[in-house]
Amino acid sequence: MVEVDFDLCESNGVCVGVAPDVFDLNERDELVVSDSAAELPENKDAIDEAIAGCPRAAIRWRT
Ligand code: SF4
Repeated sequence: MVEVDFDLCESNGVCVGVAPDVFDLNERDELVVSDSAAELPENKDAIDEAIAGCPRAAIRWRT
């Protein structure tokens, strides 16, 4: 499960560029996370990259 701290997220879309199947921005420029896509093993590497690349360190795996 992937967790985003929306108090930190500034909706800059970096994670959307890295893992577009998991992260998206809605019409109000708010970040949306697809929990079902986040569960797929093929998206794990992209999520790891998004976690590493988030300039606000707002994304983490929830264990
Ligand atoms: S990269 Fe981080 S700050 Fe940017 S939209 Fe994604 S979670 Fe938010």
